[in-house]
Amino acid sequence: MQKLKGQRALVTGASSGIGKAIALELGRNGADVVVNYRSGDDVANAVAEEIRAGGVRAYAHRADVSQEADVVPMFQRISAEFGGIDILVNNAGLQKDAEFHDMTIDQWNTVIGVNLTGQFLCAREAIRCFRRQGIRPEVSRALGKIVCISSVHEVIPWAGHVNYAASKGGVMLMMKSIAQEYAPMRIRVNSICPGAIRTPINQGAWETEETYNALMRLVPYKRIGEPDDISKAAVWLASDDSDYVTGASIFVDGGMLLYPGFENGG
Ligand code: NAD
Repeated sequence: MQKLKGQRALVTGASSGIGKAIALELGRNGADVVVNYRSGDDVANAVAEEIRAGGVRAYAHRADVSQEADVVPMFQRISAEFGGIDILVNNAGLQKDAEFHDMTIDQWNTVIGVNLTGQFLCAREAIRCFRRQGIRPEVSRALGKIVCISSVHEVIPWAGHVNYAASKGGVMLMMKSIAQEYAPMRIRVNSICPGAIRTPINQGAWETEETYNALMRLVPYKRIGEPDDISKAAVWLASDDSDYVTGASIFVDGGMLLYPGFENGG
């Protein structure tokens, strides 16, 4: 059954990793999909083509989510091409790691700019679009849905990655505050907080046996997550199956938040 038939979605940072998996899964569930990307036209166009092959509409749109001048036209185009938007998946993100005493203002601003300001800009434009549209009860009980891709590091401190942890901690309260503000309009806003997922962003943590085994000490379920572990949760949050869920951080992390250091009594 196509749970998202007739709905229109935008996924940021959708030409690789988790974003790509979500874009494909939304398409498989019947949604029309905009594949946002920052660089690499061919790869992004190939994702859009794969989605279209399933019989829904899709196109790739290049935009830097940290730039208002890019984000506003991206939403104008989706309104022009699809007639509106029902689902935003705020996924684009990056890391610029450094020991805190060596962290440059550029490393700080880049991570906050993409991971937090980028989610703010896209969420604001989505809310503006939702408010202009009416509820379409034939496709969804909600006026609109926003799914933020956060991280276990919205709550777990992360030495050497202070900019990243600060950005995801910011996403947590931004998401919950937007959810509180717009629940009366039937706009649902939630986060998925992935643990360790096999994507390019953390390749160093899983590509050799040694680093993989070290990573597993942090994962009680003893396997790395795959992008589809996240995409299935995203479809659930975007669909009416989760219609009573808003303001929630859903941890999809193989138990990373269970303090595995204490599993033998600490
Ligand atoms: P990834 O590097 O494959 O995906 C990130 C995507 O964001 C890339 O396609 C990149 O081009 C895009 N992007 C970066 N800056 C952008 C910008 N300014 N504008 C538009 N797009 C931009 O890595 P991923 O693991 O798939 O990451 C996706 C999201 O998941 C990120 O928000 C990341 O913080 C989060 N996350 C990942 C993990 C993990 O273990 N992989 C864990 C927790 C959270």
